[in-house]
Amino acid sequence: MTTGGRTRAPFGVYVHVPFCRSRCDYCAFAAYTDRDHLMEAYTRACVEELTAAVAGEDLPEATSVFFGGGTPSRLPPDLLAAILDAVPRADGAEVTVECNPEDAGPDRLDRYRRAGVTRISLGVQSTVPHVLDGLGRRHTAGAVTAAARSVAAAGFASWNLDLIIGGAGETDADWERSLADLLALEDPPPHVSAYSLTVEPGTPLADDPARHPDDDVQARRYETADAVLTAAGYRWEEISNWARPGHECRHNRLYWDQGEYRGIGSAAHSHRNGRRWWNVRTPDRYVRELAAGRSPVGGEEVLTDDQRRFEALALRIRTREGVPTGALPDDPDLEGLVDRRGGRAVLTVRGRLLANAVTVRLDAGAASLGGRPAPGGPVRSLPMPEPESTTDAPPTGDLMEKVVGLCKRRGFIFQSAEIYGGFRSTYDYGPLGVNLLRNVKNAWWEAMVQRRSDVVGLDAAILSPPSVWQASGHLANFTDPLVDCRNCHQRWRQDKIDGVCPNCGSTEFTEARAFNLMFKTHAGPLEDEGAVAYLRPETAQGMFINFVNVLQTTRKKPPFGIAQVGKSFRNEITPQNFVFRTREFEQMEMEFFVPPAEAQTWFEYWLEERFQWYLGLGIPADKLRLRHHDPDELSHYSAGTADVEFLFPWGWDELEGIANRTDFDLKAHAAASGEKLDYFDPVTNERYTPYVIEPAAGATRTMMAFLLAAYDEDEVGGEPRTVLRIHPRLAPYQVAVLPLSKKESLEPLSQRVLSLLQPHFMVDYDVTQGIGKRYRRQDEVGTPWCVTIDFDSLEDDAVTVRERDSTDQVRVPVDGLLAELRSRMDGA
Ligand code: ATP
Repeated sequence: MTTGGRTRAPFGVYVHVPFCRSRCDYCAFAAYTDRDHLMEAYTRACVEELTAAVAGEDLPEATSVFFGGGTPSRLPPDLLAAILDAVPRADGAEVTVECNPEDAGPDRLDRYRRAGVTRISLGVQSTVPHVLDGLGRRHTAGAVTAAARSVAAAGFASWNLDLIIGGAGETDADWERSLADLLALEDPPPHVSAYSLTVEPGTPLADDPARHPDDDVQARRYETADAVLTAAGYRWEEISNWARPGHECRHNRLYWDQGEYRGIGSAAHSHRNGRRWWNVRTPDRYVRELAAGRSPVGGEEVLTDDQRRFEALALRIRTREGVPTGALPDDPDLEGLVDRRGGRAVLTVRGRLLANAVTVRLDAGAASLGGRPAPGGPVRSLPMPEPESTTDAPPTGDLMEKVVGLCKRRGFIFQSAEIYGGFRSTYDYGPLGVNLLRNVKNAWWEAMVQRRSDVVGLDAAILSPPSVWQASGHLANFTDPLVDCRNCHQRWRQDKIDGVCPNCGSTEFTEARAFNLMFKTHAGPLEDEGAVAYLRPETAQGMFINFVNVLQTTRKKPPFGIAQVGKSFRNEITPQNFVFRTREFEQMEMEFFVPPAEAQTWFEYWLEERFQWYLGLGIPADKLRLRHHDPDELSHYSAGTADVEFLFPWGWDELEGIANRTDFDLKAHAAASGEKLDYFDPVTNERYTPYVIEPAAGATRTMMAFLLAAYDEDEVGGEPRTVLRIHPRLAPYQVAVLPLSKKESLEPLSQRVLSLLQPHFMVDYDVTQGIGKRYRRQDEVGTPWCVTIDFDSLEDDAVTVRERDSTDQVRVPVDGLLAELRSRMDGA
């Protein structure tokens, strides 16, 4: 959509294309290799987001449009054209598409041009084969030359070529060759970007320090790039960008000027009127939200005036215009890093290499921007190029992928029957996972049984006869509405898909049918109706059918509870999200029997107790909420239900349901079995059927929430690290005993320390690799304390205790070690 051309303030539209053929191992962007089936639905969603913005008069004409990602050239050109068509553009708007060399064939480029694209940004990275290999790029050096020729010949107004400095195995000579190859092209690119490879936490590159680029080497190559490009007639524009005059990227310029823009698509950021916001991160969720007519916005922030001023300067100092001299102090440390001329302070080449050190000295209060518009804008949320990582930002990038990867890599959770190709939706808990899961269940048991005199435990059978499930209502009611997609024939749970097929994006489905979720089997050698048995789909019924047994054997009286932890089985239609919804899982349930008149009071009591339990074990308050069910959501037995919900990467979802089940269950079983399942109160001489308040949590699902909430990335000693900030009570190991070296002389004391601690804690013992690596390994699995035995320990009988989160270390005598760790544990 191109509209009439009045001159107006620059306005950018950034379209995020999240699809990629393969993930480069240095990349931490919101990009996906397994979501190609969503392309059409995603395109529709982008068009819808644009259309709604236009209808709401919330989208000025764009002076620049940028398709970034991901790999925008993975999107078929007609889909890209459909999105572009929905963007209102000013006459002469710049429209850029990022393109991989292997995609830049004449046909595709021609279609782009006809769709209105004016500029291509070619992601070349290097022209040297072994460097491309090291970066995990799939194109060849030959493809680069061919692509550059095609782009230059296709008649775009301008184009750009991207390089990366410092890939594994790259030598100075390789880098010079990439630059020389670029300049030797028949038609060299009029704009060049050269980014230093950065190690993003959570990427495969981060896990492989041998391939981390060296700062000095990168600096040297940057200086080479600047010298070579300047000599060839390019003008330095911004830290990583050089252009021939007239070929500056307008879209980049907009960000550097802290201008306004609108991000379209999953994970895209927007900035207008001093407010910035971002869309939900995954394409699945983005498609779902728009198909359901909801806003795709995932969060927003408003900057203070001071923040805006500072960010404007921080952006501008990176450009060739620099900042007013008054914005930087006259500090000898800045000598050689900035040039002060004509009232502006501009980074020297050396200063560009140390831009962050200069930025921290900016004084937003001391300088205005010298007449340029200062409308407020982002540093971290630049849609293109993505900003350098900041170490204190929480990990947003594919948190789910990172946690799943960690679980597998470190032995928390394995796909079940993996050597046979895996059995869908079943998982095995590995050496670390089993500890964590056990700790979650123990923490629950301690809170719900051990520390209470009004609750007792039970461990009932998993197999039970149909009569139980007939009476409980499960045979009739324990169903989910099942629909088939008419397009791709995938089967879905209707209430979980918001009317859009997550596989193909279609909105056409068969009529919903009720599908019973219970696993049916046969007990004994005959497979006839009389032998039918069910695997329990919840632990609760075991408590109801044992009500009288427990009452008589424990002499409890209402209000009292029966608690149980154990496996349950549901033939879920759409098991998903790792261990969030599986067919075999563990539950932690408690049935609290109360006089009917007290039911509401106890319901409220348990809501509060259960909410506090998660907080006490370290789930941050902003990731936890209580959601009361609407009356039409309530189960057939419930007089009131509320869920404790956790903010999962895909949004709020249930951890635990707390329900007032009334007297439904006891009455139903009493009627079906003919037994009296009630209580006679000898004080009031009254007989009544108690009401039941049930807090029902999932152990496996909760364990996953603890992992997601605990996962973090930071930097220690200049190195990125992954750290699981999990509560010490839940950590798979509370302590790691680490002899500094494998030398035999350290072993007797190390073994003594181990034997001292093992009766009290789960202790890991690790002697392999350097101590720094071993600390990282323990941080990654959440071990709160490492105890190191070094050669001084042999002299002073003391060891070093290192704390996971702060990495603080203290020396503790072996004699006082147990007491020290116990007191830390108690205080946790
Ligand atoms: P959902 O709607 O998420 O399937 P539900 O409301 O049917 O769950 P309940 O019957 O209330 O779940 O079960 C109590 C708890 O058991 C849930 O809050 C959840 O933590 C856990 N749970 C239920 N089904 C599963 C499953 N398939 N996989 C893992 N945990 C589950």
